[in-house]
Amino acid sequence: KKRIVSGVQPTGSIHLGNYLGAIKNWISLQNIYETLFFIVDLHAITLQYDVQKLSKATRDTAAIYLACGVDISKASVFVQSHVRAHVELMWLLSSATPIGWLNKMIQFKEKSRKEGDENVGVALLTYPVLMASDILLYQSDLVPVGEDQIQHLELTRDLAKRVNHLYGGRKWKKLGGRGGQIFKVPEPLIPPAGARVMSLTDGRSKMSKSAPSDDSRINLLDPKDLIAKKIKTCTTDSFLGLEFDNPERPECNNLLSVYQLVSGKTKEEVAIECRDMNWGTFKPLLTDAVIAHLHPIQVQYGEIVSDPSYLDKVLADGAANAEVIAEATLSNVYQAMGFLRR
Ligand code: ATP
Ligand code: MG
Repeated sequence: KKRIVSGVQPTGSIHLGNYLGAIKNWISLQNIYETLFFIVDLHAITLQYDVQKLSKATRDTAAIYLACGVDISKASVFVQSHVRAHVELMWLLSSATPIGWLNKMIQFKEKSRKEGDENVGVALLTYPVLMASDILLYQSDLVPVGEDQIQHLELTRDLAKRVNHLYGGRKWKKLGGRGGQIFKVPEPLIPPAGARVMSLTDGRSKMSKSAPSDDSRINLLDPKDLIAKKIKTCTTDSFLGLEFDNPERPECNNLLSVYQLVSGKTKEEVAIECRDMNWGTFKPLLTDAVIAHLHPIQVQYGEIVSDPSYLDKVLADGAANAEVIAEATLSNVYQAMGFLRR
């Protein structure tokens, strides 16, 4: 079985973008692949964060994974910081990462420009090395990536090849290792189209946990009336009729896509159904579809968080499974890099 890893940062409430772009796809992936889904708490401290909220957000994110249908009889669910090897491998990898590669990362350039050099930690620069460690540690075959992560996955691939070249093969064999590749070079798994959910208040920027306005996103745990209010007041346009793929109508395309995904209809069906609608008819339809789709998830979530010991056990078991794979990789890397083993 091929192996897949993926995760979400516990940086805020999980929204429809995280769900439709990532978590919902995991549910079908777990039936086909060996899957590890983690909560990337170590990534969540890269920018300023609220110390009082991190641990609760981590648990809530795990509970949402399960509520959305991640099945622990198929997938391992764990917290990144519970498997120490992530940070350990990151240090080893960072010695093989040229600074130039990191300086080129668009996300780093954008975020550091916005915050200013004196306000961002080194972790913002080295974030992609931790992400590479998350992936390479598990010898992952495939990584589902949103558009925003493609460049980081490319770096992961380059880094895997570089380490294999620097320390693998015959050199590793001479050190008593098994020789050959140290890391599997992972391939990107591009998600199905329509999986980039845009902000409710600006159809040209993506829906995001860290966007300041809560009205810009629908959170998975939003109550019904709040969902209704957010859709009622979201940005639209004054064209006649509704249509997909008109570049002048990003909001329209986004809301139709969301409707398509939550209703389970095809794009063609939605295009025909909504062709002659105006916003006043479409918005209640969308509202009902979103509420109906999220309702069972919210009920499940309530049940999961009502029993904290259950979640503790899920996360402990998940970390134990993950650790077995992670330790094997880490031990190989230490050996190949010439360290004296204990
Ligand atoms: P932050 O603003 O803190 O970066 P985020 O909303 O971007 O939060 P992440 O934790 O960075 O969420 O990403 C988790 C997963 O959700 C990733 O796989 C990412 O590609 C996906 N994702 C995030 N936002 C969207 C979106 N608007 N549409 C589709 N997928 C998304
Ligand atoms: Mg993000």
